[in-house]
Amino acid sequence: MGWGSAGYRIFDPVARALLDANASEEITRRVLGKLIDELRQEDWDTETDSLDEFRDQPVIVAVFRDKDVTTRCRNTKSPLPTAGCTRLLGHGGDHRDDQDNSWSATP
Ligand SMILES: [Zn+2]
Repeated sequence: MGWGSAGYRIFDPVARALLDANASEEITRRVLGKLIDELRQEDWDTETDSLDEFRDQPVIVAVFRDKDVTTRCRNTKSPLPTAGCTRLLGHGGDHRDDQDNSWSATP
C-alpha cells in the first residue's frame, strides 16, 4: 500500500507555491527533485497523478522525467480524428498517434 496522499497533500502545494513565486528553473528543479526522492522513500505511488496535474508546466514535466516518471502527451489538436498523441509528455518534434499519424506541435 503506497502513500497516495503525498501528491495532493505535499508535492502539489509545494510545486504550486514555487510556480506562484516565479521560482527560477534551477530552484524548482532542485526543490522538487529532492522532494520527489524523499516522498518515494516513503512509498509515494501517485507521482503520475501529480505529473498530470502539472502537465502544462514544462519545468515540472522535466523534473519528473529526470526521475523516470512519464506519461503520454495525449495532444489531440490534430487535423485528423485521433485518440491523441502517444509520445511521452514533453517530447520534442511532432505529435504522433498509435496509427502513425503525425501533426505539428507548433500552433
Ligand atoms: Zn505529443
